[in-house]
Amino acid sequence: MAEINRAVKGTNDILPADSAAWQFVERKILDIAALYGFREIRVPVFEHTEVFQRSVGDTTDVVQKEMYTFDDKGGRSLTLRPELTAGTVRSVIEHGLLNAALPLKVAYIGGCYRYEKPQAGRLREFHQFGVECFGAASPSADAEVISLARQVLGEIDVQKISLEINSIGCPECRKLYQQALKEYLTANIDRLCDTCKERLDRNPMRVLDCKSPICSEIAANAPVVLDYLCDDCKAHFEGVKAHLTAMGISFTVNPKIVRGLDYYTRTVFEFVSGDIGAQATVCGGGRYDGLVAQMGGQNVPALGFGMGLERLMLVLQNQGIVLPSAKSCDLYIAALGDNAALKASSLCSALREDGFNVQCDVCARGLKAQMKYADKIGAAFTLVLGDNEIETDTANLKQMATGNITEVKLSNLSDALGNVLREAALDALTETVAKTI
Ligand code: ATP
Ligand code: MG
Repeated sequence: MAEINRAVKGTNDILPADSAAWQFVERKILDIAALYGFREIRVPVFEHTEVFQRSVGDTTDVVQKEMYTFDDKGGRSLTLRPELTAGTVRSVIEHGLLNAALPLKVAYIGGCYRYEKPQAGRLREFHQFGVECFGAASPSADAEVISLARQVLGEIDVQKISLEINSIGCPECRKLYQQALKEYLTANIDRLCDTCKERLDRNPMRVLDCKSPICSEIAANAPVVLDYLCDDCKAHFEGVKAHLTAMGISFTVNPKIVRGLDYYTRTVFEFVSGDIGAQATVCGGGRYDGLVAQMGGQNVPALGFGMGLERLMLVLQNQGIVLPSAKSCDLYIAALGDNAALKASSLCSALREDGFNVQCDVCARGLKAQMKYADKIGAAFTLVLGDNEIETDTANLKQMATGNITEVKLSNLSDALGNVLREAALDALTETVAKTI
């Protein structure tokens, strides 16, 4: 197929048949986020490249290999956002939002761009839902953010998803850990992949996150960060666990989670599904207490998560969970002749103002073709309009599923349509109940 007819590798179209499910999920997400006090923030799709280099970190896969970076016509180096935390932090600093009441809680949904090898659950354009909470150092904030992610997954009905948590300590205790890790990895340096050999000096913890099988095997026996936590970090992690337990949220401690981005401190967590193969992490997040200061803002603690929406959709699909589809056509008004076409237009616009999904012919087609179209789009009711109907102000509403006819007044069509739709909904409900009993 010619390039002009093909989406760029690693990108996906969300087609009309699927967009209602996305809208449902997105609405649910923002509604639940609002219950926790998180309000939506929208930041640009691209930022100065340095925003990501500084925050995500020079030694990460994302910055080293995955960014879409380009020079604009003014010679600035810009990058399509690989995640939204960096831009959000840049924005809240720039607009002084951290000078207002803290904690500041923001949520976002948006596209992210990473040059990766496309496969199931791994795209070059994907979408993340995320939240960031600024100004809260207490373990209860960590538990609250985790609880929000869990409520979203729960309300969308995702099954069999487990929460794994870890603490990677603060820069102080991590120094000791990194030293021990470096010693262990240096002893195995010959077997590490080339990228990890380079990482070893600057950021040995990245090796634990490497996807190559041999590096993973080496990582499996590496010293564990939890054994090196200082007293404050230990107490913080115990606090997070206590709050999760108090909220009835089950979790396992997985000391192998280090997260792929540089800015994390203390708590890190993932929600993992066994139902989507290798790309199993649906949601990843944690605390990043030093990031805001590192980005030129004040010294405020912060934390958040990113949830991959394509992976979430994949889990739902694999688990056979059906999300609401688009509202379908309530009524198709078929018109016979020019006069009726004008009347159909005016009836349609009045009914739409009353909130009905109503369609009429916009292709100047004959009656037969109009009815065929009404059938194809699954119109619940149809009404044929000719000169006679207009003259007598009377027409027949036909229920397509049953063939039942209801005579209605055109001057009172909105009420009549409301009534027949309510009756049809009631019938459908009675049928469902009868089936379940
Ligand atoms: P992975 O280890 O799978 O590469 P990551 O650690 O790079 O994930 P984060 O940067 O933490 O991921 O992003 C948060 C979430 O965004 C992930 O848990 C995942 O659900 C989703 N995500 C990340 N990269 C992609 C991608 N290329 N395609 C689809 N979803 C992605
Ligand atoms: Mg990745």
